[in-house]
Amino acid sequence: MARKKIIAGNWKMNMTPSQAVALVKELEPLVKNDAVDVVYCVPAVDIVPVVEAVKGSNVQVGAENMYFEDKGAYTGETSAEMLVDAGVKYVIIGHSERRDYFKEDDELLNKKVKKAFEAGLTPILCCGESLEQREMGVTMDWIRLQIKSDLKDITADQVKELVIAYEPIWAIGTGKTATTEQAEEVCKGIRDCIAEIYDAATADAVRIQYGGSVNAGNASELFAQPDIDGGLVGGASLKADFGNIVNY
Ligand code: PEP
Repeated sequence: MARKKIIAGNWKMNMTPSQAVALVKELEPLVKNDAVDVVYCVPAVDIVPVVEAVKGSNVQVGAENMYFEDKGAYTGETSAEMLVDAGVKYVIIGHSERRDYFKEDDELLNKKVKKAFEAGLTPILCCGESLEQREMGVTMDWIRLQIKSDLKDITADQVKELVIAYEPIWAIGTGKTATTEQAEEVCKGIRDCIAEIYDAATADAVRIQYGGSVNAGNASELFAQPDIDGGLVGGASLKADFGNIVNY
């Protein structure tokens, strides 16, 4: 089955609402490519103006985080229902920065994945190893553990809609990209893991991105790999270069 590539920008904590709208307008002619899905994952405060700014274009909007509870006394959090009502389609769950700085664990992330699906959002579930884990040779064991825990009680039909982002922590924001072979090896390992937990058809359908210092120079080789279905792009998603990545 041919999987449609998905190229998502993760803006992180960058762009005020007015800067966000200006960036969307600058990128609009550069990111036209109906052969791939293009997503901007933006800070919560930018969601409403960015949804408005991308109207009529090929770009969809994602959130960088959400909470799993429906509503109530959770100061500072954003619910799945709020995101859907604002026009959001995707939500990043379990980015390594959230796992590390905000101590989000797999039990919490599993609740978020469940709630996202329940609300009709597509999770972009991140996983990845530290440099220490890679050097110890436990990369795949670690990632399998993350995937299995984060997808507990998630059905095969849901996983077919899921996006998984493989992001080696040592390659995020460092300018160090995993080699094409390293990236493909782990993305294939993730697909094999999905086949083991679910079945071959589910593994064939799930989209797996690579993320970690993707740029216009390395995107085409990475995205040409059989198990890499696009990228989650941090730094380079804030520049005109993002257009070259989308049109790799
Ligand atoms: C990310 O934050 O998801 C990421 C991959 O960042 P960068 O592209 O800057 O390494």
